[in-house]
Amino acid sequence: MEKIIPDKARLKSIEDNYKAIKDRVCEAAVKANRSPDDVRLMAVTKTVESVYINHALDLGADLIGENRVQEYLGKKDELHLDGVEKHLIGHLQTNKVKQIVGEVDMIESVDSVKLAKEISRVSALKGIISDVLVEVNVGKEESKSGIYLDSLEELLLEIAQMDNIQIKGLMTIPPICDSEAEVSQYFDLMHKAFMDIKEKKLENIEMEILSMGMSDDFEAAVSNGSNIVRVGSAIFGARKYF
Ligand SMILES: *Cc1c(COP(=O)(O)O)cnc(C)c1O
Repeated sequence: MEKIIPDKARLKSIEDNYKAIKDRVCEAAVKANRSPDDVRLMAVTKTVESVYINHALDLGADLIGENRVQEYLGKKDELHLDGVEKHLIGHLQTNKVKQIVGEVDMIESVDSVKLAKEISRVSALKGIISDVLVEVNVGKEESKSGIYLDSLEELLLEIAQMDNIQIKGLMTIPPICDSEAEVSQYFDLMHKAFMDIKEKKLENIEMEILSMGMSDDFEAAVSNGSNIVRVGSAIFGARKYF
C-alpha cells in the first residue's frame, strides 16, 4: 500500500471516536445488566490505511476485523499487531482459504459445509485447528451470505464432525432497519438461537461468541446478548472505497 502522510485531524477524530464508542459499549452493557468486560469492541479496518489502524491499536484496540483476504495480507506487516486478535469477517471464497488459514485468529464468516471442509483440510495441512463462527442470514435476504436459522443446527452438526475446525459461536449482519425496535427483533432471534444451541451442549459445538452489532446498531445488539460488536465507520469515519 502506498505511503501516506497521516492527517492530524483524522487521527484526532479516530481517537475521539474510539473513546466515545468504548464508553457507549460499556454503558450499553451496564444498561443491560451485563458486565462491560463481557462485550468486546472490534475495530473494523476494511479500506482503512495502516497509519490510521495503528492509531486505534495504539489507543488500546485489541481486536480487529478485516473483510478481504488480499487487503489484510497486504497491510498486516505494517500493523502494530502485538497482542491483537485478528478476525476475518468478510465473505470467504473457498479458493482463498489457503492464504488466510493461520493468518487470523478466527474466521467469522463460515456459511457452508464446503467452506468449512476446506478450512479444516488446510488447517490439518498446517497442523492447526481453526476457530470459526458460523454466519447466519437472520433476515433471509437473498443479497446476503450466511445460512438461515432453519438450517443452522444441521450445518453446525456437520461442521462439528470435522477434525481441524472448532465452532466458537455465531455471527450475523441483520437487515437494514428503520428503527431500533425492528433491528432488536433480529438480534433477539439470534440470541434465542444461540442460547438454544448452547443449552443443548452438542459435542464440539461451543457457543461462546455471539458477534453482532455495527456502527448504527451496536447498542441494540448489546442489549440482546452480543459479546463482540464490530464497529468500522463510527471509529474511522465513512469509508472511501478504492
Ligand atoms: C464493514 C463491516 C462491519 C462494520 O460496519 P460499520 O457500519 O462501518 O460499523 C461489521 N461487520 C462486517 C461483516 C462488515 O463487513
